[in-house]
Amino acid sequence: MDFALNDELLAMKEEARKFTEKEIVPNADKWDEEHHFPLDVIKKMGELGFYGTPIPEEYGGTDVGFLAQMLLCEEVSRGSSSIRVAFNTQCLGTALSILRHGTQEQKQKWIEPIINGDKIGCFAISEPNAASDVMSMKTHAERSGDGWILNGSKIWISFASRADVGIVYAYTDKSKGSKGLSAFVVDMHSEGITASDLDKLGTRSSPTSEISFEDVKLPEDAILGGEGAGAKVVFGSLNQTRLCCAAGGVGLAQACLDTAVQYSNEREQFGRPVGKFQMNQALIAEMAADIEAARMLLYRAAWQKDQGQLGNVLETSYAKYAASNAATKAAEYTMRILGSYGYSTEYPAARFYRDAILYHIVEGTTNVQKMIISNDLLGYRKANR
Ligand SMILES: Cc1cc2nc3c(=O)[nH]c(=O)nc-3n(C[C@H](O)[C@H](O)[C@H](O)COP(=O)(O)OP(=O)(O)OC[C@H]3O[C@@H](n4cnc5c(N)ncnc54)[C@H](O)[C@@H]3O)c2cc1C
Repeated sequence: MDFALNDELLAMKEEARKFTEKEIVPNADKWDEEHHFPLDVIKKMGELGFYGTPIPEEYGGTDVGFLAQMLLCEEVSRGSSSIRVAFNTQCLGTALSILRHGTQEQKQKWIEPIINGDKIGCFAISEPNAASDVMSMKTHAERSGDGWILNGSKIWISFASRADVGIVYAYTDKSKGSKGLSAFVVDMHSEGITASDLDKLGTRSSPTSEISFEDVKLPEDAILGGEGAGAKVVFGSLNQTRLCCAAGGVGLAQACLDTAVQYSNEREQFGRPVGKFQMNQALIAEMAADIEAARMLLYRAAWQKDQGQLGNVLETSYAKYAASNAATKAAEYTMRILGSYGYSTEYPAARFYRDAILYHIVEGTTNVQKMIISNDLLGYRKANR
C-alpha cells in the first residue's frame, strides 16, 4: 500500500492551489454576494487542462486520471465550492459519459470543446417531481422522421442557463420501464429550450436553473449509447459526479479548518489566543480527523477508478457520505470558533456554512448514500457493478 502522491500529481495539486489562490480566493465572496458566474475562470480552468484528466489524449484530454481530477477539484473547492461544480459539468457528468457511451462521431464532436471550456456543459436528470427517485422522471422523447421530439421539464440543473450542450435524460418508451429510458446529447441552443435561474441559499456563483423542453427537435444521432441505455448512462455518470462532490466537500472542509486555525491563533480573549482554550482545540482536532478520513476515502475511490473500477459505487458512497459530514461539521465548528465574525460577511465562514449543506443534497442525498451502503451490507442490493 502506497499513500504517497507521485511527483506529477503533487505538481498538479500545487498548480491548482496557486491558481485558486490567485484567481478564485480574492474574488469568491464578491462573486457569491453578486451571484456572479465567472465564466472566464471556468474557461481558463479548461485551457489549463483541469477538466480533461480522465480523458484520453486522442480526445483532447491528458489521460492522467481520476485521482488527478479529484486533487484539482479539492483545491478549487478550497477557494469556492461553487466553482468546483465545473468539474462535473465539463467532464464527469458530460464529456466522460460521451467517452464511455458515445459513437466515434459524438466523441469527436463534443468531448474536446467541453473539456477545454469552449462549450459549457450541463447534465439534466432532476425534475420537479423526480429527484432521488430518478426513474420516475416524466421527460420524454418520441421518434419523429429521422430524429426525436423532446418534451418535459428539469429542475436544479447546474450551469443550464449558460450551457451550450447538455446530457438530457428522457423516456423513449415508458412501457419498457428502466429499459425505456434514454440519454441524449442536446444542443442547448435548440429551439424550444428555455432555462431560467433559481435563487438559492448558497453555491451562488454556480447558476442553477429550471429548463423547459417544448417540442425540441433532436437529430437521430443525439441519442447516447443507443435507445434504452439511459439508466446505464445515468447511474454510471452519477457514480463519477458523486466523487466530485466528495472532493468538493473535502476541499470546503479544509478551507473551514484553515480559517478556524488562523483565527484561533489571532483572536485573543482572556489575554490568550482563543486556540489555547481546550474546547476550541477539541473542535479543531475533530474537524481535522474527519477531513483526513474523508480525504482517504476520496483518494481510495479515485484510485480504484484509475485501476478501471468505474463501478465502485460502494466506495464512492463511503467517500461522499464522509465528505458531506466533514464539510457540514467543519462549517459549523468554524462558525462557532469565529463567533460573531463568522456570522458576519467579513470572513468567508458564512459562505462556507451556506455552501456546505449542499453536499448532503446533490448527486444522491446523504440518505441515498446510506441506502446504497446499508443495502449492500445487508445483502439486499449489491452496490458495485
Ligand atoms: C445547487 C444544486 C445543484 C444541482 N445540480 C444538479 C444538476 O446539475 N443536475 C441534476 O440533474 N440535478 C441537480 N441537482 C438536483 C439534486 O441532485 C437533487 O436535488 C437531489 O437529487 C435531491 O433531490 P430533492 O432535493 O428533490 O430531494 P427528494 O428526492 O425529494 O428527497 C427529499 C428528502 O427525502 C429523502 N429521501 C428520498 N427518498 C428516500 C428514500 N427512499 N429513503 C430515505 N430517504 C429518502 C431525501 O434524502 C431527502 O432528504 C442540483 C441541486 C442543487 C440544490
